[in-house]
Amino acid sequence: MNSKTIVIITSVIFVAITALLIILNKANETAEEKQEAGHPPIEDQPTIGEEDAPISIVEFGDFICPSCKTWGDNIYSQLKEDYIDNGQASFSYINVLFHGNDSVLASLAAESVFKQDPDAYWDFHQAIFDAQPTNQNHNESWVTPETLLEIAQSSVPEIDLEQLEKDILEGLTMDELLIDDELVKRFNVQSTPTIMIDGYLMKEPFNYDAIASFIDKRLDETE
Ligand code: CA
Repeated sequence: MNSKTIVIITSVIFVAITALLIILNKANETAEEKQEAGHPPIEDQPTIGEEDAPISIVEFGDFICPSCKTWGDNIYSQLKEDYIDNGQASFSYINVLFHGNDSVLASLAAESVFKQDPDAYWDFHQAIFDAQPTNQNHNESWVTPETLLEIAQSSVPEIDLEQLEKDILEGLTMDELLIDDELVKRFNVQSTPTIMIDGYLMKEPFNYDAIASFIDKRLDETE
């Protein structure tokens, strides 16, 4: 064998090994990551969809976070249409308070509405995100007790607005925020939105196809 042939064979083997490594790596790159802490408990959290739905989707979200608004408009709405409305998945929301006082005020209000009327909760939840200014300046506060009361008055007028005001101003629903904050710590939530499905963290929360194929796979398994 001359040296030219040896060089060619070596190159071919090198290329083949590299290709194999790339393929193996790709196979290990899954869109989800199993959580050691399991799946967040959702019993006392706002939940939409059938109670006994086989799939549980949890969002750790912040009413002040622009990405959460985008996620809700683009990904949640599609999940609702494809999996929640037909009873295949439920969806729960846990408050994250990464934006300080504004997050606290909005979450106190949301927990108050949830406590008063779980059915009204989701309209209020959506209305807060709708009220979030687009192109907002991160340092500019847009959440006050007054704006939250206005949002409630137009989106869920059936609830007791005086009670809502009291809950916000006196922090009467703070216990619920503390429970959520414990979950944020226990599940090591670092960013919002953090999406977990049946104890798996979605690594690409904005990749709808990846989320949908994960859900489809789990539905096949549970059938
Ligand atoms: Ca909560």
